[in-house]
Amino acid sequence: GNDLVVYNFSAGPAMMPPEVVAQIQKELVSYKNSEMSVMEISHRSELYAEMFQEAKNDFRDLLAIPAGYKILFLQGGASLQFTTVPLNLARKTKQIAFIDTGHWSQTAIDDAHLLTDRKVDVVATGKKSNYTTLPHDIKLEKEYDYVHLTINNTIEGTMYRKLPDLGGQTVVGDISSNILGYQHDVSKYGLLYASAQKNIGPAGLTLVVVKEDLLDQDQDLPSMLDYVKLIKEDSNLNTPPVFPIYAAGLVFKWLKQQGGVKQMQAQNEEKTGILYDMLDNSKLFYATANQADRSLTNVPFTTGDKTLDAKFIAQADEMGLKNLKGHVLAGGMRASMYNAFPLEGVKALVQCLQKFESAHKP
Ligand code: PLP
Repeated sequence: GNDLVVYNFSAGPAMMPPEVVAQIQKELVSYKNSEMSVMEISHRSELYAEMFQEAKNDFRDLLAIPAGYKILFLQGGASLQFTTVPLNLARKTKQIAFIDTGHWSQTAIDDAHLLTDRKVDVVATGKKSNYTTLPHDIKLEKEYDYVHLTINNTIEGTMYRKLPDLGGQTVVGDISSNILGYQHDVSKYGLLYASAQKNIGPAGLTLVVVKEDLLDQDQDLPSMLDYVKLIKEDSNLNTPPVFPIYAAGLVFKWLKQQGGVKQMQAQNEEKTGILYDMLDNSKLFYATANQADRSLTNVPFTTGDKTLDAKFIAQADEMGLKNLKGHVLAGGMRASMYNAFPLEGVKALVQCLQKFESAHKP
């Protein structure tokens, strides 16, 4: 019926703050009384310039980005950064170290391999544990241009709470699935990147934070792949995704009102904590990620029985708990609970799990 409360556990595109969605609806026809839709605003207009600068400043505040780091609002998803990062940062030794923590790290590795004049070393892997455990003890035997880590593994449900000791070498982090949901220490990184459609807003926007002194000012790459040119034009080298930037800007304001990233991290600890607690005490369900490496945003779990998992997913769906099916590569279930996901949603999931468990006691 119409009074069914729906909780969207999608890994992305994912839930946005309902207040923000309502504001978008209100402003969609006339942005700031301009009698133009926000979708119709030129990227060369004052209205856009103001919107973009505000979003950029709020993002800098929220992530506590130190001076010396530049912010880029780009397109192409986190996936395009798998190519753009090595083109821009692997220029001295032309050697890159990767930590293999699962699917998205492997995709980044595969794309780096296609740049045939770069050498790619996989210096550690979680393969033996089927990627339920992160490598922490990492030995680097030479000087790399950078070491790449997927900080939160969206599919496997693992995250680095603390960076491994990498001997002071430059670190590049993919934070697509926990950007602004965990207090990353930007000063420990040479570059961070994330797409927006998980913890920020609609798909179509990719955020890059780069330490400027790592860039070769004389490089001459194809324009849309050249951080130096993109920085020079303040992410306005071609037509930027005005609507996703607008929506992201509203989410940044919302985040500030909520108490910023510190508050989000505390809430994410609480939300995932309730679920991990249930799973750790369950006789039917279990969380798949190693306890010390558990994500604060993506929680994969299973009964270990495909038929039973499918039955649970169908039953949960009927109760308004949507998109709990695990990634095709992982199977089982996955509950993604980003910043905008409410505490009541995880409580409803726990109830549903308990009910299912009593009906299917092993
Ligand atoms: N990296 C991680 C950790 C992800 O979870 C994803 C998307 O699901 C990607 C990269 C790819 O992002 P996009 O689809 O925006 O290219």
